[in-house]
Amino acid sequence: MALNSCTAALHLAMYSAGIEPGDEVITTAMTFCATVNAIIHCGAIPVLVDCDRATMNIKPEEIEKKITNKTRAILPVHFAGRCCDMDSIMDIARSRNLLVIEDCAHAVEAEYHGKKSGTFGDIGCFSFYVTKNIITGEGGMILTDNEGYAERIKVLGLHGMSKDAWKRFSDEGYKHYQVVDAGFKYNMTDMQAAIGVEQLKRIDSYWKARQEIWQRYNEAFNSLPCVLPAEPEKDTRHAYHLYTPLVDINKLGKSRDWVLDALTAENIGVGVHYMPIHLHPFYRKTYGWREGDFPNAEWIGERTLSLPLSAAVGDRDVADVVEAFTKVLAL
Ligand SMILES: *Cc1c(COP(=O)(O)O)cnc(C)c1O
Repeated sequence: MALNSCTAALHLAMYSAGIEPGDEVITTAMTFCATVNAIIHCGAIPVLVDCDRATMNIKPEEIEKKITNKTRAILPVHFAGRCCDMDSIMDIARSRNLLVIEDCAHAVEAEYHGKKSGTFGDIGCFSFYVTKNIITGEGGMILTDNEGYAERIKVLGLHGMSKDAWKRFSDEGYKHYQVVDAGFKYNMTDMQAAIGVEQLKRIDSYWKARQEIWQRYNEAFNSLPCVLPAEPEKDTRHAYHLYTPLVDINKLGKSRDWVLDALTAENIGVGVHYMPIHLHPFYRKTYGWREGDFPNAEWIGERTLSLPLSAAVGDRDVADVVEAFTKVLAL
């Protein structure tokens, strides 16, 4: 079902699957805040797990250590477009009878061992926000192959009404609806959907363009003082959502923020994905998380930056980024 955002999809996924106040949901410390806020808005308790330094994805062996008798779900995030280790995660979930809800906001094109992202667990959530791989301005999608969840998602996604507007105002005349639950206003508009239908036709050409930029960056930055993104694993398809080199701050003798400022001065747009969740003031205050809790996420958080990566980044732009990053990181 098309929705107005991935945040809505994540919330609706957990709510429809029956996540309740007091339940624990395990996710990664290296993600966007929306992943964690959606857990909190179900009344559930977010339980963070550290990520791997190379893949930046949640570490399955750390998940096991965080499972308690309150754990209801695992919420993996396919970071930067690289699928998590879904074989291990699904094994853990099945043996412990846990739900798996995938955050596929970066990963609409991603595949792992022959399966598409969003189809491993119980429910998959996608984003078409303006920075994502395909866009509808604001927008999202929720996928499930569970008919019970699908039925609840349809009703809860639109006020809890038993019939949507298409069915209420059809040519056969007005039909009464009943409110069968206290639902949410999470629908995608027809205007967004019209953009999405056109965007879908370009999904492969956009992906190819990003893959080419990714490879050009990799070749150009090979000998700079930074760790390049890990190569995609065998039998997977990377969605190339973010290009995230890690600055070797020791070798360079400068902080990542210094590099950001220097790139900004060179007129290069940069981002940071992400400062780890547990270091933001709200979560620190609410859950007592502190520095040192998730060392790999912190290690990445101090070094990571995102360089321009989109089909709209042309040949000249790539050359500009290469020149600026090489200049800034020159020893
Ligand atoms: C963008 C993003 C979201 C939220 O998507 P919206 O469509 O903006 O709500 C959730 N999780 C991750 C990892 C994201 O990057």
